[in-house]
Amino acid sequence: MIIIDGHFDLLPLVYELRQKGEKNVIEKYFLSDIKQGNVNIIVSSLFLMDKYVPEMSLKVALDMISFLLYEIEESGQKYMFCKNYHDINYAINNNLLGIMLSFEGIEPIYNDIYLLRIFYNLGVRFVGLTWNRRTYAADGIGVKNSNRGLTDFGLEVIKEAQKLGMLIDVSHLNEKGFWDVIKNSTKPVIASHSNAKAIFDSPRNLSDEQIKAIAQTGGVIGINANGIFVTENERENNELGLCKHIEHIVNLVGINHVALGLDLCDAFRNTPKDSLKGYKELNKLFNALVKHGFSQKEVNMIFGENYINLFKNFF
Ligand SMILES: [Zn+2]
Repeated sequence: MIIIDGHFDLLPLVYELRQKGEKNVIEKYFLSDIKQGNVNIIVSSLFLMDKYVPEMSLKVALDMISFLLYEIEESGQKYMFCKNYHDINYAINNNLLGIMLSFEGIEPIYNDIYLLRIFYNLGVRFVGLTWNRRTYAADGIGVKNSNRGLTDFGLEVIKEAQKLGMLIDVSHLNEKGFWDVIKNSTKPVIASHSNAKAIFDSPRNLSDEQIKAIAQTGGVIGINANGIFVTENERENNELGLCKHIEHIVNLVGINHVALGLDLCDAFRNTPKDSLKGYKELNKLFNALVKHGFSQKEVNMIFGENYINLFKNFF
């Protein structure tokens, strides 16, 4: 079984800890949990906190990538950086954790389309146009009273990213921007870490129409285990809550369009809210899905195969 998590704010955490003088952060704090969960590939965001935006965006994003290289060296190559399908295969076959990169907002390129190619060369493979805020490309769902869709620059980013071989990621986009992405995409579109609005009504979750539109492009929806997007019912803020979102999406568009984008966030906050207490609890989700009637083959697709099929044709 191959396990791929399409969204984790790993490098932003590494960045903060290294700023305080820590080293080998991934091995020290995260690797054991990731290994217990048998995770093969993690897509780390280059998420930027408000305090770095806009002036420091480029510098901090570049530092995060540099820190990943330092960290791999400091660990004695216990995990690796994956930029393409060949790397992903190598990581899986050699039982090494592979780390890929995603933009959670295009802040690091400001309004300079030429910088996108540089970040492609540095390994960024998922491109979210914005986190919750406004960027030169789009408005996030956190921008109040916005009825702005994609800007001309946003449209240019889509075209260039898809030409280069980067996947456009619509998690966090406002609804108008979402439909602009769908209208203007020639390649599969993903929502790397979003759940179903029909199950839990959060502005970060997707309506049935949005889920169908993503599936029609050939993309996937990554199930988010950050409790604030799963349920308000404490008793379901666990693998059962996640099961409900998965069942809904599978019933709507089929098994080919669901993946994992766990967005584990407890390391960021004082009160834990994640539906899975770390990757080590992925087996709970596995068992719950089987109990709900999913076959082993179907669970394999959700946990990693659907992403593998996408990566094979894309990177
Ligand atoms: Zn996010």
